[in-house]
Amino acid sequence: MMRVGIIGLGNMGGRMAKRLLEQGVEVGVFDLNKEFMRTYASLGAEEAESPADLASKFQYVITVLPNVYIVKEILIGEDGLMKGLNPNSLLIEMTTSIPSETKEINKMLKNAGFRMIDAPVSGGVKKAEDGTLSIMVGGEVSDFEEAKPLLSNIGQNIIHVGEVGAGHTIKALNNMISAATLAVTGEAIALGVKLGLEPTKMLSVINSSTGKSFSSDFKFPNQVLTRNFEVGFTLDLMVKDLKIAMSMAEEEKVPLFISSASFQLWKQAWSQGKGSQDHTTIVKHIEEMFNVEIKAEMTLLPGE
Ligand code: NAD
Repeated sequence: MMRVGIIGLGNMGGRMAKRLLEQGVEVGVFDLNKEFMRTYASLGAEEAESPADLASKFQYVITVLPNVYIVKEILIGEDGLMKGLNPNSLLIEMTTSIPSETKEINKMLKNAGFRMIDAPVSGGVKKAEDGTLSIMVGGEVSDFEEAKPLLSNIGQNIIHVGEVGAGHTIKALNNMISAATLAVTGEAIALGVKLGLEPTKMLSVINSSTGKSFSSDFKFPNQVLTRNFEVGFTLDLMVKDLKIAMSMAEEEKVPLFISSASFQLWKQAWSQGKGSQDHTTIVKHIEEMFNVEIKAEMTLLPGE
């Protein structure tokens, strides 16, 4: 029987915990939010008293937390993971994080005789619910192979991309693209509305043409046209991811022209206090500037 402890039961981690329980995996949980702990305990998860307690009872430990600073606190803080891990344990770090920090964490763990992989995810809350996330893994091949059966309960495309930190690298790069496509599609559709075109028809064209992306194909029909901006992935987290991508480019001394323009737009929305809203609120932000609204409209057919 596979046993895994999860730390962080938010929009992503909570859905992963539920999915693992549904797949018959024994799940342990820890979160600062006691209500979240109780919710998953009522579905069959075992509540842990601390990260150390969780690590002492579960061979596999997943962290899926807002940022690396919290991951570090969970590792080295009082009753942190370091106090409960053992040489058989495998830490699976699924937070979207800073690759250089992840490499430092790996060094620290290695020196103490412990193992980790970084395995951030992509796909949003819907794919987390369905167990169809993309998972990009950095680490030793043997550790990747060991974690794969467990990860296949929550993900569909599980790809080993390199050494520890490589997963976090490609995750930031993916979101750099995703942030830009959502913003540019927002600008295009908002401009089209201003020019008198219907959003639904524009999206039908784009989604069968070269402008198609996950943003146009999934986010626009499901969240923008329906005006359903329910929180799944916050704007705060998207800004964090862009910051990571920007700092990676800075370290490598390369410019990022397109992504810098996109980043400024995201930061503008963020600076206006929109950080805790879903990231798709960036489209509303563009709408405000253009003075339009992008929504599905009924078209009367001739004769109706
Ligand atoms: P979230 O804010 O919804 O959840 C974070 C959880 O961590 C919360 O339940 C919070 O109580 C808990 N937490 C915070 N500090 C803690 C601490 N010190 N000890 C224990 N628990 C603590 O965030 P999320 O959307 O679930 O994202 C988690 C990670 O996954 C982030 O790094 C994010 O970038 C990444 N991610 C999210 C999505 C998404 O669609 N939401 C998609 C891909 C990747």
